[in-house]
Amino acid sequence: MFEEIYPSSRRTLEHAGLHLAEEMGELSEKILAYRGARDSVNFDQVKAEAADLISCFFGVFNSSGIDAAKEISAHFSNNCHECHKMPCECSFEKILSYKS
Ligand SMILES: [Zn+2]
Repeated sequence: MFEEIYPSSRRTLEHAGLHLAEEMGELSEKILAYRGARDSVNFDQVKAEAADLISCFFGVFNSSGIDAAKEISAHFSNNCHECHKMPCECSFEKILSYKS
């Protein structure tokens, strides 16, 4: 669907990646605004930005020629890709330690 809406032929992977980073920041801003206000207007903005962000993730997949469904399926074929449990049993501290 996103390949039809935002054809990858119209942008590079670099542009898709930069757009993704920008949209992550916008979602973070909306979440912070919602955290302060706790109203439906701000929550609606969180929902819209989250949907927008997802389109950017698919933009990266499409711009790099990666089959999103195939890669996501393979990555989570054994449940959580770190602890291999379902539901995941990783703590937030454990998740951070994977990155270092
Ligand atoms: Zn886990």
